[in-house]
Amino acid sequence: MSAKKDFLIFGSPKIEREEIREVVRTLKSGWLGTGPRVARFEEMFRALKGTRFAMAVNSCTAALHLAMLAIGIRPGDEVLVPAMTFAATANAVIHAGGRPVLVDCDRRTMTLSLEDMEKKITPRTRAVIPVHFAGRPCAMNGITELAGRHGLKIVEDCAHAIEAEYHGKKTGTFGQIGCFSFYVTKNIVTGEGGMAVTDDGEYAGRFKTLALHGMSRDAWKRFSDEGYRHYQVVDAGFKYNMMDLQAAIGIRQLPRIEKYRRRRAAVWKRYDEAFASLPVFLPPPPEPDTRHALHLYTLLLDIERLRISRDQFLQSMTEAGIGVGVHYIALHLHPYYRETFGYRPGDFPGAEWVSQRTISLPLSPKLSDRNVRAVIAAVTRIVRENS
Ligand SMILES: *Cc1c(COP(=O)(O)O)cnc(C)c1O
Repeated sequence: MSAKKDFLIFGSPKIEREEIREVVRTLKSGWLGTGPRVARFEEMFRALKGTRFAMAVNSCTAALHLAMLAIGIRPGDEVLVPAMTFAATANAVIHAGGRPVLVDCDRRTMTLSLEDMEKKITPRTRAVIPVHFAGRPCAMNGITELAGRHGLKIVEDCAHAIEAEYHGKKTGTFGQIGCFSFYVTKNIVTGEGGMAVTDDGEYAGRFKTLALHGMSRDAWKRFSDEGYRHYQVVDAGFKYNMMDLQAAIGIRQLPRIEKYRRRRAAVWKRYDEAFASLPVFLPPPPEPDTRHALHLYTLLLDIERLRISRDQFLQSMTEAGIGVGVHYIALHLHPYYRETFGYRPGDFPGAEWVSQRTISLPLSPKLSDRNVRAVIAAVTRIVRENS
C-alpha cells in the first residue's frame, strides 16, 4: 500500500543533505558496521549529557534490556514501570527475568504518580523506570527521594526526552543508567538506534560486553589495521550493536537538536493558541525550573463534551489527510499483560483516562507552516462539527 499523495505522515523525520552525504561516505569507506563513526557519535552524546560513558546500541529497547541486566535485575525481582508507556519499557524488565509492576500516572502530566509508586513498593522491588513522557521530565526530586529511601535503582527511559532537564540537571543522569532512542519518529533519528549513559564504569563495561555477543571489550577492532587480536567470550551476550551506517546519520543530526527543538516549540505555541478555546485539554505548561523536550503534542479530548469518541476522531483526522498517533493505550489493557500478570481494566484510572482521550498531532521539525495550518484547520473543524 502506498501513502496517498499529500497525506501528512505522522512523525516523519527531517533528513538533510549532510546526513545523506555522510551515509554515502560511510558506504564508500567500506566500514558499515560498528566502527569509528559509532565511537564519534558516542563521544558527542557523552559530551552532550556530561556523563563518563555513553554506549550506542541498535535501539532504546536494547538499551533498556541491557540496563536491566547491568544493574543486576534477576528472576523474582520487581521493577516499577508506568502503566502509561510504550511496551518496550515493561518488556525490558521481562526479558531480564524480572516482573514489571505497573504504576498509575497523573492524568494531566501523564508521568508517574508518586503516590501510586509508593504503594507499589514491596520487599522485592529493586528498581524503577521513570518515563519522561512526551518530553516532560518526571518529578525527579520525589522519585529519587522515594528510590533512595527504599534502596531502588533508577533507569530512566528518555526515549522522548533527549533535551529535557529537571532543576538544571539533564534527563538520563538522575539514576544508574539513562536510555535514549533514535527511532524514526524521535527527536533525533538514526533509523533504528539507541544510547545509554552512565557514570559507573562497571555498568558501562557489562553493558558494552553484553551488547556485542558477550565478547571482551572493543572486539569490533579485531579486523582493523592495528593487527588481528583474539577476542574472548566472557558472557552470553546479544547482538545489539549500532552500525556506522546508523551513526553516520546521528553525528549529522545531533548538532541540529536545538534548532529542531526551536521549530517544534514554534509549532507547539501555534497549536496551544489555536486550540485554547476548544473542548480539549492542552498539554500542561512545564513545571518551573524544568525543560521540556517537546517530543509529543498530545491533545486530550474532552469526550464528555464531544459527540464522538477518540477513535472516531482519529478516523476523521486520517480522512482529512493528517497522520496522528496514540501514545498510548495503557499497558494493563493489552492482552499480554492482562493474561500474564492478571491486570484488569479499572486498575489504573489515570492511565485509562488518558488512554481514552489522547491523540498526538504531527510535531516534526519537517512540518511546513502550511502543514501546521492544515492540522489546526482539521482539528478545529472536527471538534466544531461534533460539539
Ligand atoms: C520509542 C520508545 C521506546 C523504544 O525505543 P526504540 O528505539 O524504538 O527501541 C521505549 N520507550 C518509549 C517511551 C518509547 O517511546
